Amino acid sequence: MGGTFDPIHHGHLVAASEVQALFDLDEVVFVPTGKPWQKDAGQVSPAEHRYLMTVIATASNPRFTVSRVDIDRPGLTYTIDTLRDLAAQRPDAELFFITGADALAQILSWKDADELFELAHFIGVTRPGHELTDNGLPRDRVTLQEVPAMAISSTDCRARVERGEPVWYLVPDGITQYIHKHHLYAQP
Ligand code: ATP
Ligand code: MG
Repeated sequence: MGGTFDPIHHGHLVAASEVQALFDLDEVVFVPTGKPWQKDAGQVSPAEHRYLMTVIATASNPRFTVSRVDIDRPGLTYTIDTLRDLAAQRPDAELFFITGADALAQILSWKDADELFELAHFIGVTRPGHELTDNGLPRDRVTLQEVPAMAISSTDCRARVERGEPVWYLVPDGITQYIHKHHLYAQP
């Protein structure tokens, strides 16, 4: 599961947990992006903070791990490179890429879209506010999956912190504490 994870929240965790159970996955690898090509660089928190928050949020689940492949690779992050790196590290694994409805909608515009579908099976999960449609996607390589709806976004979490509003229960407790300890998203 790739993401900016700025910060990781319960929407990500519920989606990952649900897909892990439904598809009987051995492992869900959370992959924080380095520099996402779709996002303005100045608006994204330093990779180490996003990586550490992802580690904290996933530490208690034996099936969840975190990969540094994207944050350690120089340059912009493209999902094709993520999948190539993960495939090289796990030559015998069958790869699934978990993504939300909003990201799935853009997938055909991603770099090397054809090869993406050769490297992994894509699982598009429901996300409140975004419709789950498979327009133009190869049906044998993409599964649309309904997961319990969590109307949470990182953008909203950041805005709440900036306004001095709580993010308790939207993100794991350790993430709330990490955000405050490092003064993330707060006004200077
Ligand atoms: P931002 O608001 O900064 O874009 P985000 O909440 O969308 O953050 P990302 O890190 O961009 O989080 O998302 C990583 C992946 O998780 C994407 O594929 C996204 O669609 C999916 N996702 C995020 N939030 C949810 C949610 N509440 N339910 C289901 N999927 C989600
Ligand atoms: Mg997003």
